Amino acid sequence: MNTNIRCSLLVVLCLGLVGLAGSCRKKEPEPQPPAAAAEFQWQIDQFADLRILRYQVPGFEALTPARKELLYYLGEAALCGRDIIFDQNYKHNLVIRRTLDAVVRGYKGDRNDPRWAEFMTYVKRVWFSNGIHHHYANDKFVPGFDAGYFDGLVKGTEGEAFPLAPGQSLDDLLAFLRPILFDPAVDAKKVSLDSSGDLVRNSAVNFYDGVTQAEVEAYYKGIADPKDPTPVSYGLNSRLVKKDGRVVEEVYSLNGLYGPAIAKIVYWLEKASTVAEDDAQKKVIDALVAYYKSGSLEQFDEYSILWVKDLASLVDFVNGFIEVYNDPLGMKATWESVVNFKDLAATKRTDTISANAQWFEDHSPVDPKYRKKEVKGVSAKVITAAMIGGDCYPSTPIGINLPNANWIRKDYGSKSVTIENFTYAYDQSSLKSPFGPEFTYSPELLERARKYGALAGNIHTDLHEVLGHGSGQLMPGVGSDSLKNYHSAVEESRADLFGLYYIMDDKMLELGLLPDKQAAMAEYDLDVRNGLLTQLVRIQPGKTVEEAHMRSRAMIAHWVYEKGRPENVIERLSKDGKTFFIINDYQKLRALYGRLLAEVQRITSEGDYEAAKALVEGYGVQVDPELHKEVLERYAKLNLAPYAGFVNPVYTPVVEDGKIVDVKIDLTEGYIEQMLRYGRDYSFLR
Ligand code: ZN
Repeated sequence: MNTNIRCSLLVVLCLGLVGLAGSCRKKEPEPQPPAAAAEFQWQIDQFADLRILRYQVPGFEALTPARKELLYYLGEAALCGRDIIFDQNYKHNLVIRRTLDAVVRGYKGDRNDPRWAEFMTYVKRVWFSNGIHHHYANDKFVPGFDAGYFDGLVKGTEGEAFPLAPGQSLDDLLAFLRPILFDPAVDAKKVSLDSSGDLVRNSAVNFYDGVTQAEVEAYYKGIADPKDPTPVSYGLNSRLVKKDGRVVEEVYSLNGLYGPAIAKIVYWLEKASTVAEDDAQKKVIDALVAYYKSGSLEQFDEYSILWVKDLASLVDFVNGFIEVYNDPLGMKATWESVVNFKDLAATKRTDTISANAQWFEDHSPVDPKYRKKEVKGVSAKVITAAMIGGDCYPSTPIGINLPNANWIRKDYGSKSVTIENFTYAYDQSSLKSPFGPEFTYSPELLERARKYGALAGNIHTDLHEVLGHGSGQLMPGVGSDSLKNYHSAVEESRADLFGLYYIMDDKMLELGLLPDKQAAMAEYDLDVRNGLLTQLVRIQPGKTVEEAHMRSRAMIAHWVYEKGRPENVIERLSKDGKTFFIINDYQKLRALYGRLLAEVQRITSEGDYEAAKALVEGYGVQVDPELHKEVLERYAKLNLAPYAGFVNPVYTPVVEDGKIVDVKIDLTEGYIEQMLRYGRDYSFLR
C-alpha cells in the first residue's frame, strides 16, 4: 500500500535542534558543524511565525550547458503555475493578492506608520501561504490593521492597476474585500477536518462550489468502478461545481479551467523537451504535455508510469496536480513543482536502503498477511532542488515520494527523494538557535543531539520515504480512500513508525548507515520531545492539532507514552518549573513503536475507519492546555519563528547567436522583490 500521499513534507520549522518540522520529515535537522559557507546569509527575513531562508544549489555551475538549459526551462514551468495554487487555495486569493501587490508597489502615503508594518506582515504572510489562510494551520489570518486603514492604503496608491471586475469601482472592490479580509467568520478555515460537519461546505478551499459533501461522494461513487484494478485518480484535476442544478466537473487543462496558466507551463515544457537528456526523459515530458492538453487522467497515469521508470536522468522534476492534502476529501490535488538534479555522492546512502528493501519488509513487525510479498522498484535518491513552485513554494517538502496512485506504485514502483540542499539550509540557519538548550533536559542529551541529530534525521527521512510509504499492502477490496479524513495522518504515522522501528535495528550499523546506536537514540529523543512537547509551539492557544504530519507525530508520541507508563519507558520531569520528557528504556520504546506500526498497518490494510478515528482522535488531536501554555511561554522568550520557507535563485540564460550557451545563477534576490516580480511576470489567470 502505499499510500498515497505524498509526503511531502514540509519542514517547517526549524529550529535547531529540534524538532518540529514539518512535513514528512519529522524532525528538524540538527545543527552541523559550521562549514565553509558559514558566512552565507541563510535567513533573510522573519515575521509572524515565519522565517525566510535562501538555499544554495551546489553543483549547478559544474553541470553541462545542456543540463543548465533544461533546468532553466523546467524552472520557468515551475513558476508559471503560481496563480493556480492561489486560486485553488481560495477563490478570492488572486483578487486579494493583486490588490495587496498594487499597494506595496504604489502606496504614496506614510510608510513609517506602525500600521504599515502590520500591513506588510500581512502581505508577506499571504505571499508565503499562497493565500489568506495559514499554510499549515489552515486558519484565516487576522490582519493587524483595520478596514479603514486598508481603504486608505488602496486609495493612496498611485500608478497601479487594481483588479476591478467589469463595471466595478474601487469602492465596490473595497466593499467586496472587507468581510473577506476582516470578518473572522467568513471562510474561516481553508480545510476543515471536523467530520462532525460537512467537510466540503466548511472548507474555504476552492475545489468545490455549490455542492455538499454527500453530493461529492455520490458523484464519484457513480463514476468509479470499484472492481477496476487500475483506476484513474478520480477527481484529481478538477473542480466540482453545481451548474443548473447538476453536478459537473470543471477539468484543469489547456482548454479548460486554468487554461491560460497551463498554456505557459506547456510552452516551457515543450522547450524542455527539445533539450531532454535522452529519449526516455523526452517521452516523460511529452506525456506530461499531452496530459495538460487533454486533462485526461488516463494520460496522467501514462505520464506517471514513464516518470517513475525514468531513473537514468540526472535532471528530474515534479510538475502538476499532485498532492491531495488540501482537499478535505483527499481527492483533489494542488498544483506544485520541484525541479532538481541528483546528488550523486549522497545517493549512495539511499541506494543502500533501497537495495535492502525486501529485507526490511520481510522483518517488519506487522502481520505477514499485510506485508508486501515482493517489494518492487523502490528507487531512492538524494537530490538538489534548483527551483520550487506552486504548493512547494516558499514552504517546501524535504522529501517526496511519488506517484500517489496505488496500482502504479504496486506495478511500477515509486520514486523517493530527499532534498538535501534544503535540510542543509535549515541546519545552517539554526546553528546557534536557543531552541535546543531550552527544550533539552540535560547537556549530555543536547550534545548527543548536536552530534547525531542531523545524520539520524536524514536516515529517518530516508526510511520514511524510501521504505515506509511503500511498505505493506491493502487487503482485496479495500480502497485507499477508506480512512477518509484520517487517511493522511494514519499514512504519515505508518511511514514514520517504519522509520522509527528500523533506525534502532542492528541492520543500520551492519549496512554502515549509522555509526552507532547513540545516533538512533538521538532520533528517539527528538521524536518523543517533538510529539509530546515542542511541536506545540506551532499551535495557537485554544486550537487543536490539525495538520496530518503533526497529528501523526502527536499520535505516535502520546500512544507510546501511555502504553509505556507502567514501565516508565518515557518519563515526564519538571526542572525549574519547566516540563521535559526523557526516555528511560530505548529498547522498550522500540518495541512499542513496533506494536503501533503493526496496528496502523492493520488499520490501513483493512481500511478500518473506526479504529483510525479512535487512534487519531484519541492520541493525535487534543492538546493539554496547561502544557501548551507553558511551551508557548518558553518559546516566546526565544524570539524564534516555527515555520520557514525559501526564496528561489534567479536563473539568467546567456544567449549567443540565439542559443543558450550557459545559465547564470544568482542567490541575492530579496523576499519582497521576488514576490512582486513573480506577481508581475508569472500571473496568467483572471
Ligand atoms: Zn510522509
